[in-house]
Amino acid sequence: MNKSDKTGLVFFPAFDWAISPTHPEREERLLYTRDQIFEEGLMDLPRITEYKPRLATFKDIARTHFCVPQVKDQITEAHLVAAGGALVIADALMAGEIRNGFALVRPPGHHAMKVVHGNRGFCNINNEAIMTDYLRRKYGLKKIAIVDTDVHHGDGSQDIFYHDRDVLFISFHQDGRTLYPGSGFTNEAGGPTAFGRTLNIPLPPGTTDEGMHYVLEKHILPVLDDFKPDLVINSAGQDNHYTDPLANMKITAQGYASLNAKLKPDIAVLEGGYAIETALPYVNTGIILAMAGMDYSGVTEPDYTPGMFTLGPEKKARIEEIVAELSTVWERRDSTDIEVLRAKQDFFQRQKNIYYDTDGINECQTERLRLCPDCGGYLSTASQAYHHNGVQYNVLCLSIPFDGCHECREEVYAEYEMAVSNKFYDYVYFQDRVGDTYRGYGREKPLEWEEV
Ligand SMILES: [Zn+2]
Ligand SMILES: [Zn+2]
Repeated sequence: MNKSDKTGLVFFPAFDWAISPTHPEREERLLYTRDQIFEEGLMDLPRITEYKPRLATFKDIARTHFCVPQVKDQITEAHLVAAGGALVIADALMAGEIRNGFALVRPPGHHAMKVVHGNRGFCNINNEAIMTDYLRRKYGLKKIAIVDTDVHHGDGSQDIFYHDRDVLFISFHQDGRTLYPGSGFTNEAGGPTAFGRTLNIPLPPGTTDEGMHYVLEKHILPVLDDFKPDLVINSAGQDNHYTDPLANMKITAQGYASLNAKLKPDIAVLEGGYAIETALPYVNTGIILAMAGMDYSGVTEPDYTPGMFTLGPEKKARIEEIVAELSTVWERRDSTDIEVLRAKQDFFQRQKNIYYDTDGINECQTERLRLCPDCGGYLSTASQAYHHNGVQYNVLCLSIPFDGCHECREEVYAEYEMAVSNKFYDYVYFQDRVGDTYRGYGREKPLEWEEV
């Protein structure tokens, strides 16, 4: 795609954004990383080129999310810069200025789902998902793979692409029975039209570099080979590290750096990682060197000694079992698709309850996907939640996929008009990703707007 041998970096530590002064997701998170990067002289290497972030637009956000009541209510300027930082890397890559790139930004994003009522798992908007949809819209990319290597299940990214057969989402993480957000099991494998395009690898607590690399080599890399994405994005969370205070894994900086060297993501975007002094500087430095194709073997934590962690036969057997199960899911991906379409149902429907841990909000959702023979099918999501201010929001979110057919678009426009004229919903939104138009209607203060 491009001949440049450069690695692009965007660094945005958001020194003025924190959930609270003592919260793990606070300003200091990238302080030591910044020092380490400058001390090692990484920014001066000829292979590395630094970019300044820019602001993402509300339209970029509305292409991916339904923010309730409006985009402006769910974000701060730091969110726009973090998402915009990822978009800068995307543009540089597509312009052929860089071979790959890493957006070291915060606030993080991978727990933010399609509908946004508040903050979940420190996230309001999903930086990788926004970038994925931007790349598809602006550059016409068709198939994108997101590999989430954060210790927490990337439930937001999963939710956003669950019915999207052109986006492959693979997440490995500490088993949800032992860690937030409590999801990410092997049976969450994508909706009926996108079966197998979501792959979850729940790893036992205490998984080491050896276990993680087994998963990468036996499952993730072969699946990527089959899927043949136009682009691979890495949701690069560093909280699998053995010193991370929020989780219980045993991954080292070397483990992460060699993961990156084998995965060869086109773009990495920082997610979690809360050992700000003992893990983040080493892991991020290792990843930057790996992306630049340079020797990272000297990057080790001061307290690390080889052989410190062993996987053990039980964990190893469990990981082999999971990989075998998921390989079957992957092999069956298209046969299941066809079976469901043959059943000739017009719609697939499911109910979801979503908890916003940071904001203490409970959301109830009913999702209806049109099983369309001509496109990915439009999605209609009815959602209800009480916000902080005691106001209950009852909203309808209508989404036309990138490959949306004429009939699906007509139906969405008609459903929008109907929902606006009946009094049941407080807000009605539509995402027309074919026309790149994102509109909303509010009954609270009767108004209609379009995101630009
Ligand atoms: Zn995390
Ligand atoms: Zn259609």
